[in-house]
Parts: sequence; C-alpha cells; structure tokens
Amino acid sequence: MKNDGFFGEYGGCYAPETLIAPLEALKDAYDKLKHDHLFQKALQKLLGHYVGRPTPLYHAAQLSRYCGGAKIFLKREDLTHTGAHKINNTLGQGLIAKHMGKTRLIAETGAGQHGVATATVASLMGMSCVVYMGAKDMARQRPNVKRMQILGAQVLPVYNGSQTLKDATSEAMRDWVLNVKDSHYVLGSALGPHPYPTMVRDFQTIIGQETKSQIQALCGRLPDTLVACVGGGSNAIGLFYPFLTEQSIQMIGVEAGGFGDQLGQHAARFKSGKPGVLQGTRTYLLQDDDGNIAGTSSISAGLDYPGVGPEHAYLHDSKRIQYTSVTDQEALKSALTLARLEGIIPALESAHALAFAIEYVPTLTKDQVVVIGLSGRGDKDLEAFIQALEGSL
Ligand SMILES: *Cc1c(COP(=O)(O)O)cnc(C)c1O
Repeated sequence: MKNDGFFGEYGGCYAPETLIAPLEALKDAYDKLKHDHLFQKALQKLLGHYVGRPTPLYHAAQLSRYCGGAKIFLKREDLTHTGAHKINNTLGQGLIAKHMGKTRLIAETGAGQHGVATATVASLMGMSCVVYMGAKDMARQRPNVKRMQILGAQVLPVYNGSQTLKDATSEAMRDWVLNVKDSHYVLGSALGPHPYPTMVRDFQTIIGQETKSQIQALCGRLPDTLVACVGGGSNAIGLFYPFLTEQSIQMIGVEAGGFGDQLGQHAARFKSGKPGVLQGTRTYLLQDDDGNIAGTSSISAGLDYPGVGPEHAYLHDSKRIQYTSVTDQEALKSALTLARLEGIIPALESAHALAFAIEYVPTLTKDQVVVIGLSGRGDKDLEAFIQALEGSL
C-alpha cells in the first residue's frame, strides 16, 4: 500500500494509523469490484435509468456565434439527477459500501451538491446518512441543506476553522475513524488518501468517455480543446482522462480566482500554491511561509478548497494540462451570459470554465471544436444571482 496511489511525487496515502486498515479494505473491495461484471452492470443500469445518462453534448450555437471563434459544445452534467456530476461518483461508492456490508454513509460537502448526491444514494440503497458541512457553507447553500434533510440525511454544521469544506472534511474523517465498522466515507472529489483519487476519477471518467463518442458522432472528429473548472478536480479529470493520450488535444483547468490575488482571497492553488500534505494526500496547497494552510475564498463553494487533486498536480508539472483562474465577477458575468444566450443557468463552479472559454474562443478559428464541462446547474446559486442582478440592474 505504501507505494500505491502516487501520481509522480503527488498523491499517496498519508492517513492516520487508525484509517490504514479501512483504506486498505476499501482499496481491496474496489480493485475486485472494478472488474466484476455484475457490479459494472448494476452501476451502468443506475447511471442510465436513475441518473439519466448519457447526458447530452449540446452544440451551443448562440454562444459560439457570440464568441465568434470555434464551435462550442457543452457537456451537460447539469442535467443529471440531483443536478451535478457528483452523483456519478456517489452511486459507485454507494454500491461498493453496500457490497462491503456497510449501512451508513458519511460525507463532507461544500456547495452541498455532494451532500445531496450522497443523501440521495443513501435513500436509494436503504442506508442512513450524515453530512458534515461548514457553517458558512450552510448559510450560503441553504436550499441544498433543506434538500439533504428532506432526503432523510442528518446535516451536521462544522464551526471549526474557516467553517467551509476543509473543516467539514476533517470532521467527516474523524467520524469515519470512530464508526468504520458500519460506515463508509463517501469522499466527493478526486482528493484524499489512496484509493480515493483513483476511484473517484474512474467513476467520473464516464463524462469523458461519453464526450468522446458523442463528439465523433456530431463532428466526425475529436475536439481541439477541453475546458473544465477545478475544485478538487473530479469533473475535470473525468472529462479529460479519456483524452490524455491524444497529445494534440489541449486541456485547460480553471480554478477560482476569487476577489483578489492575495493569499486568502482566492483558491488558485497552481497560481500561488506549493506542494505539501493535507487530508491524506500530497499535492499543491495554498499555505503561508510557515506551511500553515491558508484561507481561501470563492463565490462558488464547490471550488473553495486549499488543495487540488493530486493527479492534477502531476499533470500540471508535466505540462500536459494548463491551469488558469478566473475571478468571482467574471464567473458571475459568464453565468448570466449563458442564461441569456442559451437559456441555461449554470452552477457558479461551471461558470468559471465558461468565463475562461468566452475569453479564449475568440482567438480560435471557426473550424475548431471546444468542449466545456458544464458540471452542474445553477439552482443552488439563486441567492448569488439575485444579489448580482440587484447590483447590476
Ligand atoms: C463540487 C462541484 C464542483 C467542484 O468539484 P470537482 O471535484 O472539482 O469537480 C464543480 N462543479 C459543481 C457543479 C460541483 O457541484
């Protein structure tokens, strides 16, 4: 196990002693089930009939015309059941937990989408569910808190630290240590100790696999550029992964630029982060000169985390993927642009990818093809949109 789960010098399994055995059990179960025909069949069936996959790859003709460059396609994870890509992963982990005989799911959540997806899967599979959520996130994502409660989950506020995702993750891990016998910890992004980054990536890879065959059917060729937002990085790695070996395809991950360049004002790990270890994995982290984890800020709770998935750290250093960031204001503006041009209200996380694409696409030629990962829908962000509209109209 010690040498497993590394992406170059990143990743690994930096977990407390008490979690090593459960992580190994999880890894063994996953390694076995991943090749199990019945497991894959059960997962595919749920993805089709319950989640609504395949999600459309939509040619955004108005947005393409507005940008005046390449043809833009949106991979519509916003149309999945529960409204974001998170459900692809929670269903997979839910099935594993069931096979392992667990009866209780633990999750952390930032924007609430992963909490809602886990609460949904717990209902579906007849398990109980606790979701840890920073008190600050609970206030700004109230509709999702209510959704989780309606689904029967217990939402526990976390008042430690910055009262956001990082603190909720620590609490979820603490709960798992105490209740490992009957509980599975459903980690929501391509983060944490091995086997999570690999397992979560595998469950999200369906996004890229579908995109690959859909773009072939629609355009008769592969795309030139892929763009996705990067919180922990699960939707991005899910879209990018099946294309990584195609060297001609350019990939751009977009982080949260927040409201300024100072430490504490953003969550752009590749802009001002340094390698270190946090919550089980070695990756790029936002930290001060003494190595203390820095505060972060983003209008989108789902991107508001000081670390990035370790596979992204590796792909960053090897220069296979380029990373950039856009500000809160740019994301908000792009979300409204998409709403007005295409009748689609995106999640503010996804709007970060859109904002970059809207700036970038005009530099491309008309015959080029760009795919943007639309990771989720904007219903949960209504409050932020209302405030933005009241400010600008
Ligand atoms: C959680 C979330 C994200 C960020 O998570 P990744 O693991 O980086 O994908 C992005 N978009 C939406 C809609 C989310 O809910």
